[in-house]
Amino acid sequence: MKLLLIGESREGKFIDYSYELFGFAERLGAETSMVLVGRDGDLPEYGGTVYFADSAACGEYNPELHKKLVLAAIEREKPDYVVFSHSSYGWDLAPRVAAALQVGQLSEIVGVADGAFELPCCSQKMRRTVKPATAMAVLTLQGGAFPATKPGGAAQLQRLEAEGSDKVKFVGYEAAEARDIDLAKAEIIVSAGRGIGKAENVPVIAALAKVLGGQLGASRPVVDSGWVEHSHQVGTTGQTVSPKLYVACGISGAIQHLAGMKKSGFIVAINKDKDAPINEVADVLVVADVMQFVPALTAKLAK
Ligand code: FAD
Repeated sequence: MKLLLIGESREGKFIDYSYELFGFAERLGAETSMVLVGRDGDLPEYGGTVYFADSAACGEYNPELHKKLVLAAIEREKPDYVVFSHSSYGWDLAPRVAAALQVGQLSEIVGVADGAFELPCCSQKMRRTVKPATAMAVLTLQGGAFPATKPGGAAQLQRLEAEGSDKVKFVGYEAAEARDIDLAKAEIIVSAGRGIGKAENVPVIAALAKVLGGQLGASRPVVDSGWVEHSHQVGTTGQTVSPKLYVACGISGAIQHLAGMKKSGFIVAINKDKDAPINEVADVLVVADVMQFVPALTAKLAK
């Protein structure tokens, strides 16, 4: 099986999550080559073929040009699958490539099973297993679903050039607004999930964070409901954290949450469901009602 991996670089740096593409290829035991639009010097640690285009000429991002470059590499490699990360770059570019080739696309792959791919469904509560219906297919991989693997070696460069297009012009990147807290540096994080029930219970979780000398984190529904600020959100659309201790309070362990915290040193999960997926990464699972257990634990620790 042959995969054409679409790597990403930004402002002269190969992006770490692109290494997950190699982890996916390894899981499939597939041959690989890569497409990368970037600056000289931001190549991955990978000894295979890299179809490389200089972003100074093509722009850091230009969907028309980048699509042409990917199509040119597909023409040469004739892969079975063209694989993107499920990033904002992948969201935008993958369907353009699939439409140009008139092939199927499977988005947000979280696992592989016997020549088929697992995709989340029913608001991430279940997985379905799907086989592409076309000979070639475009895939996007959910962040954190596959290990980031560095194959090592020096890339064999094949330079790509694309004709200009002035339909889209890259203007620049804008830095995100400064956050009131920096969870990425916290050594202890206590996170609130939907299982805490209501906004009024957030201070109970915050009190445990305080007594432990840590920061308050949260899952996305807690943020979407307006119970806490987005700066506290952990996960693919929040922050990636790796504290020494992570306490997940009423959090199920959806892949988008795990992607942001599974590298934590020691993980304690408090959940009334002993089969909650967070159990897959937890060192300790406390099966209890979070609103009874957390205040009791905080009181003990305060003593
Ligand atoms: P739920 O999945 O509803 O889980 C609640 C848990 O609480 C359950 O396990 C339940 O058993 C437990 N519970 C209920 N009551 C109690 C109680 N009284 N005591 C103890 N346990 C109790 N999510 C993120 O967190 N971060 C992200 O960055 C993120 N990005 C996303 C990006 C995309 C593109 C998509 C599609 C989704 C994203 N999500 C993200 C959402 C993610 O898929 C899940 O929906 C979310 O993580 C679920 O949050 P939760 O675990 O708090 O809630």
